[in-house]
Amino acid sequence: MVYGNMKMWIGGEWVDAESGKTFPTVNVTTGEPIGTAPLADKADVDKAVSAARKAFPAWAELPPGRRSAIVASIGESLKKHAKEMAHLDALEHGLPEHIAIGPTMGAAGNFEQAAAYSRHLEGHVIPSNNDRMYCLERVPVGVCALITPWNMPFFLMSQKVALSIAAGNTCVLKVPSINALTSLKFAEILAEVEALPKGVVNIITGPGGTIGTYMASHPDVDCVGFTGSTETGVSIMQAAAPTLKKLVMELGGKNPAILFPDANIDHAVEILAHHQFHNCGQACGSPGRYYIHENIYDKFLEKYLEHAKHLVVGDPLDAKTNMGPLVSREHYNKVMGYIESGVKDGATLVLDGRKYDANFIGPTVFTDVTPDMKIYREEIFGPVAVMCKWSDEEEVMKRANDNTYGLTASIWTRNIAHALKLGKKLTVGTFSVNAHNFIAAEAPWGGVRQSGVGGKEGGYQGLLEYTEQKMITICLREE
Ligand code: NAP
Repeated sequence: MVYGNMKMWIGGEWVDAESGKTFPTVNVTTGEPIGTAPLADKADVDKAVSAARKAFPAWAELPPGRRSAIVASIGESLKKHAKEMAHLDALEHGLPEHIAIGPTMGAAGNFEQAAAYSRHLEGHVIPSNNDRMYCLERVPVGVCALITPWNMPFFLMSQKVALSIAAGNTCVLKVPSINALTSLKFAEILAEVEALPKGVVNIITGPGGTIGTYMASHPDVDCVGFTGSTETGVSIMQAAAPTLKKLVMELGGKNPAILFPDANIDHAVEILAHHQFHNCGQACGSPGRYYIHENIYDKFLEKYLEHAKHLVVGDPLDAKTNMGPLVSREHYNKVMGYIESGVKDGATLVLDGRKYDANFIGPTVFTDVTPDMKIYREEIFGPVAVMCKWSDEEEVMKRANDNTYGLTASIWTRNIAHALKLGKKLTVGTFSVNAHNFIAAEAPWGGVRQSGVGGKEGGYQGLLEYTEQKMITICLREE
């Protein structure tokens, strides 16, 4: 399918970049162009921010019931286009189409869930020690600049848009250049929702290094919602600092999965291998370090390898495919670099995924990994599992926390009480017991340390991130 020259959506109008320039996006499997997107510049950001600013007062003042109904109808509309969006996801991002339908339906769920929460954005009354009444009200922040990554593109862009507008904000969305057409298709679906006022959502396309930075520093932007690498998060924080913007940032991770001797091995293999490989490990929450108790190490490894060897690597449009290509040549080279560094540093490569052409890497598994190795410390963001053995509980908990990230972790045991006790010791924003990672509209998600700033995304807590608290004092003295 060829998408032609698509346009940006600003103030409810279809527009080219002011400069008239465009850039292509490609089918990541074949390298063939599938369409072009406008190459926005600062002037286009100004235009989009100004449209969002103009739309803000009326949208913020809309009664919650009416705003909620409009947000819910976006969810309805997305469901009708789910197949089309999953197809585009497979082309631009490489996630197998039959798998991509899951997060695509999840995108619709993001709007349904945010719509429900927006009716219940409640404040509260604070008990007073004097003749005043104190009320705390939740209000929207204003204009939000939303910048998202390529690894679960449609789900993540929809989540930010849903949460920010459901709270009464207006927004300007910019997604990675790799997924530009996905975002412009999303704009087409939004444009079908007649009740959505012009300028509440604006979608622009162009390079993060220029327009992303400019969005983060723009004097008329009140909040930046960002998901992406920690490195870019730092740049955004710097760009946003002079104007002291509210920041909601979901960043990278190197997530421990800790398996105890009584773990259900078959269940752990199925779930952990799924999160490691289904999106080629290109997920912030994918297991970054496995700590397997010595009593079950051999058994777990044997079953894990058996599972991994049977995964089908290939065309993301084929229903039999478990793993498509990595998202780009650049990212493929980066992941290959990590595999080479693991070999050079002395880890044992028990399953080598480097046997395909183009941007494909199959399941790859390292054992004998030690804490000084790059593959142990850094986020690989690829289908590369890093296995370590443990015997001492105190030691393994220390190792699990010994990283600059703090996104998520999982503990695998039948002793739930013990898992919960250990979970308290983990410096992470989320942790799971006999499960790993999740994406769900109702479940807040987010990290601590270098994995996130500003709390959670998703769920009611995620909606609150896109609000400010306004304090109201009323004098109750009678004249
Ligand atoms: P990235 O390189 O940081 O890019 C993310 C977004 O930022 C893209 O839209 C990019 O646009 C833009 N950007 C790049 N440089 C920028 C700058 N200087 N100022 C403003 N915007 C800029 O991340 P990625 O490679 O797309 O995504 C992978 C990373 O995201 C991983 O580290 C992963 O762990 C993290 N992630 C975290 C979560 C979470 O919930 N914690 C979820 C998903 C992914 P261009 O593409 O146009 O450059």
